[in-house]
Amino acid sequence: MSIQLKTQSARSYTAPLADRVSLITGSTSGIGLGIARALAKAGSAVVLNGFGAAAEIAGIMDQISGEFGVNVSYSAADMARPEAIADMIATTLNEHGRLDVLVNNAGIQYVAPLDQFPVEKWDAILSVNLSSVFHTTRLALPAMRQNGFGRIINIASAHGLVGSPFKAAYVAAKHGIVGLTKVAALETAEQGITCNAICPGYVYTPLVEAQIEGQAKAHAISREKVIHDVLLAQQPNKRFVSVEELGALTVFLATDAAASITGIALPVDGGWTAH
Ligand code: NAD
Repeated sequence: MSIQLKTQSARSYTAPLADRVSLITGSTSGIGLGIARALAKAGSAVVLNGFGAAAEIAGIMDQISGEFGVNVSYSAADMARPEAIADMIATTLNEHGRLDVLVNNAGIQYVAPLDQFPVEKWDAILSVNLSSVFHTTRLALPAMRQNGFGRIINIASAHGLVGSPFKAAYVAAKHGIVGLTKVAALETAEQGITCNAICPGYVYTPLVEAQIEGQAKAHAISREKVIHDVLLAQQPNKRFVSVEELGALTVFLATDAAASITGIALPVDGGWTAH
């Protein structure tokens, strides 16, 4: 009883996720980093994951803990390796005693026509973008069930709802995430756990920067033309989604206010999938 009262009073409008522990895969850069910062700002301890130089990652950890006053840890687990994922979840549970919010965000991209798509790229994208979500989810569920609380938030894509040419593996993996989200939601619906997918349109991050560079070279056109005529051609509001918008939505889905939202694939795409 006293523990419950403490938890309730510790949460407030400004720190709705106080006492929560969140693990965000692929959070050393881009969307994942933005989401980790938003969860930390909302009061959650955060476990970061992803690749990068040790000094850079240490800098990110210091910045988040300094700015928001929450516990920050890091796992170098490669999301392509199931045994590394198992180790990451076990370490999180050992160190924090709980895992409340799991954000499956790590992702990679490769673009090529279907009949020329390198088999090793297909395998890599399917394992990092889709199979890792199966592994983190299956391993996190027992602890979430034990606590009677869990939020699984999968960063899919507009490409989880519609296709685009040359992105066979990415589109297949992201559609797979949307399906997996529905199954996880149905299996956990009575247990205080929700599972949802966020489907962003184009967000300006290093992953998209690489596509801008690649397309500009391939078509011998300027960066501006790639941005406006190729990438944002699909996005009716003609601007990139921001990582802050995705962070705010993730925080909302993690709060008690979103307890009845489960199994959805929510587009955040400036109208792209309204076409
Ligand atoms: P990013 O390249 O900036 O960041 C990707 C993160 O994943 C990095 O932290 C990287 O270190 C990590 N990562 C990559 N491979 C990994 C692995 N094997 N193991 C562990 N970590 C790994 O990319 P981003 O644009 O921020 O994309 C994040 C997610 O959002 C991806 O799933 C992507 O598909 C999705 N998404 C991005 C956009 C966009 O326009 N940027 C749009 C829709 C969906």
